[in-house]
Amino acid sequence: MTVTMDFHGAAGSVTGSCYRITHPKGSFLVDCGMFQGSKTLSALNHRPLPFDPRELAFVLLTHAHIDHSGMLPRLTKAGFRGPIYATPSTTDLLTFMLPDSGSIQESEVERLNRRNQQRGQEKLQPIYTLEDAKACLTQIRDVSYEEWLKASPGVRVRYWNAGHILGSASIEIEIETGENQNPVLRLLFSGDLGPSHKAFHPDPNAPEGFDYVVTESTYGGRDRPDATPEERRARLLAEVKAALERGGNLLIPSFAVERTQELLLDLAHLFRHRELPTSHVYIDSPLAVRATKVFMEHAKDLEDMEDGSPFEMPNFHFVETVDQSKAVNLIKAGAIILSASGMCEAGRIRHHLKYNLWRPECTVLFVGYQAPGTLGQLLVSDAKTVRIHNEEVIVRAAILRLDGYSGHADGPELVAWIKERLPVTKGIFLTHGEPDGRQAFKAALVAAGCDGGKIFLPELDDRFDLTAGKMAGPAAHRLPAEQVATEDWHNKHAAFVLDLRQHLALLESNADRERLLVELRGRLQKRA
Ligand SMILES: [Zn+2]
Repeated sequence: MTVTMDFHGAAGSVTGSCYRITHPKGSFLVDCGMFQGSKTLSALNHRPLPFDPRELAFVLLTHAHIDHSGMLPRLTKAGFRGPIYATPSTTDLLTFMLPDSGSIQESEVERLNRRNQQRGQEKLQPIYTLEDAKACLTQIRDVSYEEWLKASPGVRVRYWNAGHILGSASIEIEIETGENQNPVLRLLFSGDLGPSHKAFHPDPNAPEGFDYVVTESTYGGRDRPDATPEERRARLLAEVKAALERGGNLLIPSFAVERTQELLLDLAHLFRHRELPTSHVYIDSPLAVRATKVFMEHAKDLEDMEDGSPFEMPNFHFVETVDQSKAVNLIKAGAIILSASGMCEAGRIRHHLKYNLWRPECTVLFVGYQAPGTLGQLLVSDAKTVRIHNEEVIVRAAILRLDGYSGHADGPELVAWIKERLPVTKGIFLTHGEPDGRQAFKAALVAAGCDGGKIFLPELDDRFDLTAGKMAGPAAHRLPAEQVATEDWHNKHAAFVLDLRQHLALLESNADRERLLVELRGRLQKRA
């Protein structure tokens, strides 16, 4: 009898976590995430699934982030009717995150179809709709941490705190093999792992002794300086104080789930202990407001709440309607505005940027990772002008960065997590991470005493024979390995156009600008 695992996501540098396990009595998924990143990658979301969803017995979900959960409605749309197991807080987050994703898919396709129509191209269908997402929600079943659940004949599972975001889990799985020698196959999926000192959640936890462990390696190659909650708060205090003294508003672009609540926790502490003068804090993102409500409902499961709820301060204002948001746009000074999206790609933060970026007394404070090609990344790399809603906006505000908030374990923390899981007898899979990061992580594990021959770095759609302990083939790969880069030519083209625009803006005179354009044109003509 054979048990196999297909890496349908989160392999190599590819996002979109999705593993399919096939055993004699059926098959199931761990996660079903959306591919995010380059256009080549996100195009995969529209392609046929590499398996028949109707054949799946169930899905195990590690956490609510869209790159782990975002394709669940597509399974439902394609006929999957089985249970989706998730922790109660994950379920509550999905209640609005999946419908929101459905609406985004619909409006995205509408926009593309308008353009395609002008070009005489065929109409696209959304990956799934708001209605598909709502239907999918009815299939979710709650699982508690640290309790065995019989998921299907021959398979039982147990969820463990992963310390990454509210409700996040690592998942332990036992599969009956029917063999006398090894009657059960023991697997562990890390999910995304949180760092030490993470606000709200205890450090990641799980048992030891497995046949296989599948672990993320997002920051596998990084060794971050350890930041305690006190140090993190001190840095935030310094930045907020300086921003208020500058005399304008402070904008903090922030992810709606987890980062916004972490900031509220630290701000509440600084206000309560009178380290900051009372100022008005506006949480202006419908998703962030809903996510905060889920945090409030699960307050009893959260750490760091000794001072009382950090979400119910008299000076914290949850902005719900568009009119309320427009009113915040009109505030000239002294407001602290937390808004999404965290990389300024969409959402109400773009309105706030338009109203505040050109004013030298204002401050924009970035507290998270900014992906290449995003407006956030442009701002942190000192762009002098940016385009928002088709308008040129000059950047005069102070643009600052604050490290110390992270949702992921770094290299040494990942190694420590693996060491606590040993012995792992048959294999450790390092998934989702840049090539350098995965190699560095592997080297660190070998240095820590793990057998390098049993550490695997799977690529997208690889198949592994868990019974035999080796790669199984041939599996159908949706993308050739060389195309699975984080940046494809579309990204490079977009980056080039932005660079060119900035470069032109920085030149002294129109004559200089013309000279540069003539030179570039000359290059193109030479190639032609
Ligand atoms: Zn995550």
